[in-house]
Amino acid sequence: METIREHIEKLMNQRELTSAYQQMIAQALQDEEVHRFLIANEEELAPDAIERGAAKIYEFVSERNKRKKGEQPFAPDYQPTLIVSNHLIDVAYEPTRGKVQADEGRAKAALVTTMNMPKAIANARLEDYDATDRVVALNEATNFVVAQTTDPTTFHQGLYLTGPFGVGKTYLIGAIANYLADQNQASTLLHFPTFAVEMKAAISDQKVVPTINRIKRAPILMLDDIGAESFSPWIRDEVLGIILQYRMQEELPTLFTSNKTMAELTEFLAGNDRGDDELPKAQRIMQRIQYLSREVTVGGINRRLS
Ligand code: ADP
Ligand code: MG
Repeated sequence: METIREHIEKLMNQRELTSAYQQMIAQALQDEEVHRFLIANEEELAPDAIERGAAKIYEFVSERNKRKKGEQPFAPDYQPTLIVSNHLIDVAYEPTRGKVQADEGRAKAALVTTMNMPKAIANARLEDYDATDRVVALNEATNFVVAQTTDPTTFHQGLYLTGPFGVGKTYLIGAIANYLADQNQASTLLHFPTFAVEMKAAISDQKVVPTINRIKRAPILMLDDIGAESFSPWIRDEVLGIILQYRMQEELPTLFTSNKTMAELTEFLAGNDRGDDELPKAQRIMQRIQYLSREVTVGGINRRLS
């Protein structure tokens, strides 16, 4: 039986290869990639597959060459590839590696919603976490993500990460959120002091209730820097109180970071010139925080100075 190679040669030698179209086809047939494809699929291809697939071969070569030359191809995010379809030659368009990576990146990013958080947390990874002096915090974080991903439907108590400025509390919740996103779990991270300012500004345009409703329902919520907002009974009772009440009731995983310990946060939430009913109000908030999370001290150096 005639081999593919012999068959191509015969076609090339035909004297009738005169029209411009036929010459283009002839050129395409000489292409190295086309050759490799034809030889690799020799057994599967019909005897007249080359003649019947000439236009497809031409399409493949010219589309691929456009990319090589940097010209605008027919579908920039897709690259042509030759395939055998029902014993004949066809061209399929596969997403480019760049497109696949961009799609994956977008899907992952969509699982981490951030509000006024530092951009750098997008790159925070538990694997990269420098645990010097912070083994306990990393252990607790690992326990949480393992529990949350192996058994997402039961309630897992979150973490209340406390420690001085710069030890990596925000970095750690970012790393937790990114780990969960890799496992297809969505979290919302918000910088609580900025959020408090925005809520105060939004009172007049009635955006407060819908925003709070959206945030309180986040599948996993992380409140960053709680206790660093300027004290306000309204934020405490009508914003934080509402969010935490809902999350406790619905048993939704919630994490916090704070420069204050839980004891210090209680003091803060009671306010300075407290009336008699302020401390119980503060304690009510704290009960919710303690139901939702366990206090974990993050130690170590101030990384903003290193
Ligand atoms: P905190 O929230 O406790 O004030 P941050 O999380 O903002 O601290 O961390 C302070 C700085 O140190 C940031 O620039 C952060 O990116 C960096 N950082 C924190 N933890 C790590 C870590 N484990 N590995 C690398 N960089 C870190
Ligand atoms: Mg922080």
